[in-house]
Amino acid sequence: MATVEKRDYYEVLGVSRETPLDEIKKAYRKLAIKFHPDKNPDNPEAEEKFKEAAEAYGVLSDDDKRARYDRYGHQGVSGASGGFDPNQFTDFADILGDFFGLGDLFGGGGQRRRTNRATRGSDLRYDLQLEFEEAVFGKEVSLTLPKIVACQSCKGTGAKPGTQPSTCSGCGGRGQVRFSQGFFAVARTCPQCGGAGQVIKDPCATCNGAGRLREEKVISVAVPAGVDEGSRLRVAGEGEAGSNGGPAGDLYVLISVKDHAHFERRDYDIHSEQPVTLTQAALGGEVKTLTIEGEETLRVPAGTQPGQVFRLRGKGVQFVDASGRGDHYVHVSVRVPTTLSAEQRALLEKFAETEGEIPPEQKGVFDKVKDFFAG
Ligand SMILES: [Zn+2]
Ligand SMILES: [Zn+2]
Repeated sequence: MATVEKRDYYEVLGVSRETPLDEIKKAYRKLAIKFHPDKNPDNPEAEEKFKEAAEAYGVLSDDDKRARYDRYGHQGVSGASGGFDPNQFTDFADILGDFFGLGDLFGGGGQRRRTNRATRGSDLRYDLQLEFEEAVFGKEVSLTLPKIVACQSCKGTGAKPGTQPSTCSGCGGRGQVRFSQGFFAVARTCPQCGGAGQVIKDPCATCNGAGRLREEKVISVAVPAGVDEGSRLRVAGEGEAGSNGGPAGDLYVLISVKDHAHFERRDYDIHSEQPVTLTQAALGGEVKTLTIEGEETLRVPAGTQPGQVFRLRGKGVQFVDASGRGDHYVHVSVRVPTTLSAEQRALLEKFAETEGEIPPEQKGVFDKVKDFFAG
């Protein structure tokens, strides 16, 4: 089962909690360039690092979010109230558009970002809270996602149907313009086309030339039986639409599970407490106990002690990634009566007369202690 262990954002960027914003920006820029997908094609590890850095930067570059993160950690910025947090995933292209526009200034050389190349859409995250039973048995859920989809009218080009985007005259399609500043030749993102290298003369009316539309989409996700707190479900292709014909990102559903009044879950096992009466514990008997499947009869043997645990094999949670199930553990608690009728009192007193004052297994110990003080 996939669990989410997030690294500390400061650690991700290799900075300290006191690092000022401009230094954080520099640290992020370094990582973003190193792990950028353009430089690391087909390298999922680099992609993860890239996203991790972007997420960390997204939080630490925002005064408000950084303060919340400093105080509450990841909880403070993860949208713990459930539902989708659109700020969680930053639009990497936007942040890097800035950086790569300045690439030449820092001696980066030919690293020209072509924003009109096919780009994969961003991944989305959805925090889903389930009832205890829903996690145990699985559930079909409908999720409403705000998402960016490719415009159907223009097939994502942004140009009015029947027309084509044309090469930008400002930059000749390169997306950048150069000018001299003292000894330096400085490259800037082309102001005419915003770095796309293309301009749209007749924009598509549906999307106003953006090629993408913001929409609400309802999708159905089958949450499998056995998921637990921290489980992460990947729904391929349900993230944001790619641009320029790039593939869509993925949707990650992060599961959290509410506590249950009667059951406690530990991995795939379930634990519960079962009170029994004094006489049931002493004499043995049958009690009705609850498992996730309903009522079960539990045979309590004579002489059952408080805290004794009985296992109901295979009555736990279905494994999420294999066949088979966990077990159910019943923890016995013995209820000592707090009020007695006259008859019960007389009976217990009679019973007490037949018992020694000290439980037999402790008698030996007591005698030894007494001997020690007498000796
Ligand atoms: Zn359109
Ligand atoms: Zn241009």
